[in-house]
Amino acid sequence: MDKIYKELKLSKRENGKTIVINVKGRKIGKDFIVMAGPCAVESDDQIIETAEAVEKSGADILRGGVFKPRSSPYTFQGLGLKGLQMLKRASEKTGLPVITEVTDPRNVEWACEYVDMLQVGARNMQNFPLLKEMGKMKKPVLIKRGLHSTISEWLNSAEYILNEGNPDVMLCERGIRTFENLTRNTMDISGIAVAKRLTNLPVIADPSHATGIRELVEIMSLASIAAGADGLIIEVHRNPEEAKSDKEQTLTCAQFDSLIKKARTLKEFLEKAYKD
Ligand code: PEP
Ligand code: MN
Repeated sequence: MDKIYKELKLSKRENGKTIVINVKGRKIGKDFIVMAGPCAVESDDQIIETAEAVEKSGADILRGGVFKPRSSPYTFQGLGLKGLQMLKRASEKTGLPVITEVTDPRNVEWACEYVDMLQVGARNMQNFPLLKEMGKMKKPVLIKRGLHSTISEWLNSAEYILNEGNPDVMLCERGIRTFENLTRNTMDISGIAVAKRLTNLPVIADPSHATGIRELVEIMSLASIAAGADGLIIEVHRNPEEAKSDKEQTLTCAQFDSLIKKARTLKEFLEKAYKD
């Protein structure tokens, strides 16, 4: 890996120690962090009920999209400003910090007034004006790996944000498009292990988008933890059948409750096992 690292000319790894990003007391990169919530914010009731459930199960951060980059322009596009206001209310009610995707550089600055973290979606991983704008903010940024992106392109995109002066960047492996079509994407577990070795940024795994299949989300969460992920981002809805986007991969609150317990148990087991 050292040879590859030198060739890539990325920023310093600080002796291989993962940086710690503090989001309202949640220490990403130090503690194992679980982000959870619906694909999209749909109503006050929906986001608050889901937020309360995931908080009760022990989630650290609430996710919810308001600018949805959908493949078809005829499907639900997200609630925009109204959705941000709903997210903020859910955050105030539960005490959970919130993360949301912003797709347009013109929306970055004002969206920061409503959320604690910004997300770069897979489709925007090489939207360089967007990355530079997020690099000027004082909010942590989670950058997803692009649908067709190599690991080195992904890491270079993270550099665009870092180079603007924002040090709080984390990576997110969410699967890549391959010839395989039984799963929505192919979860590149080695992407997690490689990113951990080539950068000092926390790496978060997104088994929801990586698989597109509810039944696979838990097992791929555990696989990601074994590969060294610093956290998970999981789609959860109070009633997945009603979800306006990504319902096939969305967990019920009960399924999430079971997942997070197993995830934390595995993480603790591995930490103890590696210590000796
Ligand atoms: C999402 O998080 O809902 C999303 C659109 O993810 P991705 O950018 O990974 O497709
Ligand atoms: Mn989604």
